[in-house]
Amino acid sequence: MSEVMINRLDAADGDFQDKLDKLLSYDASSDEAVHQRVLEIIGRIRREGDGALLEYTQRFDQYQLAGAADLELPKARLQQAWDNLPNDLAEGLQFAAERIRTYAEQQKLQSWRFEDADGNVLGQQVTPLDRVGLYVPGGKAAYPSSVLMNAIPAKVAGVPEVIMVTPTPLGEVNELVLAAAHLAGVDRVYRVGGAQAVAALAYGTASIPRVDKIVGPGNIYVATAKKLVFGQVGIDMVAGPSEILVICDGGTDPDWIAADLFSQAEHDEDAQAILLSPDAAFLDKVEASIRRMLPEMERAAVIAKSLSDRGALIKVRDLAQAADVANHIAPEHLELSVADPDELVKSIRNAGAIFMGRYTAEALGDYCAGPNHVLPTARTARFSSPLGVYDFQKRSSLINCSAAGSAKLGRVADLLARGEGLGAHALSARYRGR
Ligand code: NAD
Repeated sequence: MSEVMINRLDAADGDFQDKLDKLLSYDASSDEAVHQRVLEIIGRIRREGDGALLEYTQRFDQYQLAGAADLELPKARLQQAWDNLPNDLAEGLQFAAERIRTYAEQQKLQSWRFEDADGNVLGQQVTPLDRVGLYVPGGKAAYPSSVLMNAIPAKVAGVPEVIMVTPTPLGEVNELVLAAAHLAGVDRVYRVGGAQAVAALAYGTASIPRVDKIVGPGNIYVATAKKLVFGQVGIDMVAGPSEILVICDGGTDPDWIAADLFSQAEHDEDAQAILLSPDAAFLDKVEASIRRMLPEMERAAVIAKSLSDRGALIKVRDLAQAADVANHIAPEHLELSVADPDELVKSIRNAGAIFMGRYTAEALGDYCAGPNHVLPTARTARFSSPLGVYDFQKRSSLINCSAAGSAKLGRVADLLARGEGLGAHALSARYRGR
């Protein structure tokens, strides 16, 4: 049986803040050896293109492709994966995809214009990115739900070409991932992974066209490569381990709360699951539920390690203090398992996704509620937002001056440009200001 150590904290204790911050600190270990390795891989892909891609695929995925033409999986192969999917899974994926699409439609940024008093028209034109690359991890870590969450918003934004890369270790293709790619409308799939796939997407090879932005999770080689190609292309984020913070007033079934904490803890030994409650007796009940239910979990060992190292049950004074602690933690997922979540949510400023009320299990959001499950982690919800359609759109400013408007603006621009010592700017503005 997996031993679990349950950390119990009390926000009234003098050293609470220190203890909490210690629990929150996470070293994403920017490994120097991996950094060098990835730099070398990117360099070779830039210089040698497909040849290096084939060689790395053989080395890291133990898979020998016949040639560059073999890198791409034919479209018919995606269709076949979809056709062969068991009915219930196909229906489940379709249900999820529809809800993700409906939600994403609401996020679409629209172009706008207005006219000022001098007849100048000012505005913002919104356009989709031309081409996006989606990284899908190989093997067991590949989630079809992630394919939907990353590809559907891109398609709703109107991205004409969504390209997926995924390693196929020993030549094994993940059928569920291919089926999800078909459903989400992915345009092309290449069977490559790791830093070499990220480099190919960023710089292009003879077979793989370069993209404008790379999204999707991966291991440390993938994450490091994404960081290194940022600037050449856009990236979504570099995701850390999953997190859940539950605020409960004590009125929810403790077994439900224990399961909610498990649901994120099972992702990863470094995942973080924390419960805040003003009701000490309720915290005792959740602790008892955890101890009783844990041995039954398939991933008990991972959950036990995650809860012992990074989890906590925390007694707070009241819900107002719980909201303060939540804003400090800025969790990826926040459950408000309370009688009046609409009231409590008004105090929440920092959280990736907020799950309101006793019935809203975070796991529903992972698959099919509709909002994206790609969320800011490691306290970055203080300044960033869930992946959405807006991440696949860009904005151009529009300025269309009337003759009168240009004359007025020209006079001010002339003045300011001379103040900055930029004579050509002043001249260009003055011509219109006459
Ligand atoms: P992966 O596709 O991320 O990585 C596999 C590739 O890593 C290989 O193809 C190879 O190119 C490269 N690689 C492996 N060893 C290497 C070495 N020694 N040198 C250079 N390159 C090497 O698949 P994975 O390894 O199974 O990892 C998946 C990761 O994705 C996990 O860390 C998992 O936590 C993460 N993940 C996160 C989410 C999320 O939502 N945050 C979802 C799914 C997966």
